[in-house]
Amino acid sequence: MAFGFTYTDDQLALQKTVRKFVDNEIIPVRHDYDESEEFPWPEVKKMFDLGINCMNAPEKYNGMVFGNVGLCMVVEELCRGCLGIAITPLANMLASEPVLYGGTEEQWDYWYPSICEEGKLAAYAVTEPGAGSDVAGLSTSCKKDGDYYILNGTKCFITNGKHADKLCVLATHDKSQGSRAQSFFMVDTKTEGVSFGKSEHKMGMRCSETSEVILDNVKVNKKMRIGEEGDGFKLAMKAFNSSRPFIASASVGVAQGAFEYARDYAKERKAFGKNIASFQAIQFMLADMAMEIEASRLLWQKAAWLLDEKLMAADLSAMSKCFAADMCMRATTNAVQILGGYGFCRDYPVEKMMRDSKILQIFEGTSQVQRMIIGRSVLA
Ligand SMILES: Cc1cc2nc3c(=O)[nH]c(=O)nc-3n(C[C@H](O)[C@H](O)[C@H](O)COP(=O)(O)OP(=O)(O)OC[C@H]3O[C@@H](n4cnc5c(N)ncnc54)[C@H](O)[C@@H]3O)c2cc1C
Repeated sequence: MAFGFTYTDDQLALQKTVRKFVDNEIIPVRHDYDESEEFPWPEVKKMFDLGINCMNAPEKYNGMVFGNVGLCMVVEELCRGCLGIAITPLANMLASEPVLYGGTEEQWDYWYPSICEEGKLAAYAVTEPGAGSDVAGLSTSCKKDGDYYILNGTKCFITNGKHADKLCVLATHDKSQGSRAQSFFMVDTKTEGVSFGKSEHKMGMRCSETSEVILDNVKVNKKMRIGEEGDGFKLAMKAFNSSRPFIASASVGVAQGAFEYARDYAKERKAFGKNIASFQAIQFMLADMAMEIEASRLLWQKAAWLLDEKLMAADLSAMSKCFAADMCMRATTNAVQILGGYGFCRDYPVEKMMRDSKILQIFEGTSQVQRMIIGRSVLA
């Protein structure tokens, strides 16, 4: 399909539904969840009821109805309300990517029903205390034992973590062989030997769960290995390439929320006898925010469109994520600036948005890692 700049009627109808849901159900509760750090189960259940908890599932499981463009559009709308609440479906989708790309239909039938039909959660368990950006350097081991593998290791910073029903775990057959010796496994969290360590207390996204996952002699049937032995690293990179536009759209959503709040505030707040919106300094900040949000939106739209056209491009995915995440940090910082002292206070949402936006430059590959990918591509 040629690239256009309009959503389909179905996508527009969905956008309207999600926007209404965010205005009525997310925005009124986001502050309390941020303060309490309580996991937002009622909101997660509502997103499941809306059918937006795992939108990248195969069609058989009612996913991909709106394409990656529609999916990112929904992510943007959700994140306009609250990144902490929206991150749960995003984590479901990231965890499902290796299964989607490398799994058999039988494996899909194992993985998807609990998420898509029962509303349970999934988690992507790759990062370790000693290996974050350097995925090839991870240590969690998978030793073959007849028809089984025995998994041992510790994962950290795992979103959805202890609330997840299933994990997608990356482990190594032989650490000395680096990226060539890794495989993904689907692991039920009720399996003997799976436990959860500490939950992180974070700067932002405070109501989302971020857990340590401990795998102690976890016995997993070989049927749970995704792809061939050694396919893991390639699948992890494929997962990141297709999920980075999701994070780009999340960044646009957070920035859009901050922009709208700061714009409306600027029209009301008076200083020196005038609305602060009449000062060029404030107008220029708002103009920069609007311009950069639009540029970032165009980038995620192109990256998502490439995914829909089966033309996944690692450099474009990285560009969309890096540009939008860095933009979001600037936009939310400027939103705080526009609100002055009130922007610094927790009663005003832009303070939370600025804290939330920092993670967008860190997870699913830091902004430095994205630049490494882009650098490699432009020099190839
Ligand atoms: C809230 C939260 C949720 C997360 N969710 C998940 C999840 O669900 N699943 C999961 O697997 N992981 C998750 N992560 C982990 C996240 O993906 C990692 O934190 C991230 O990839 C960075 O790894 P690191 O923290 O080990 O930092 P490091 O890799 O130690 O990097 C530290 C710094 O060094 C820089 N750096 C590293 N290597 C290079 C290089 N070669 N060149 C230049 N600079 C470099 C980095 O950019 C960064 O600034 C989450 C993290 C957080 C905080």
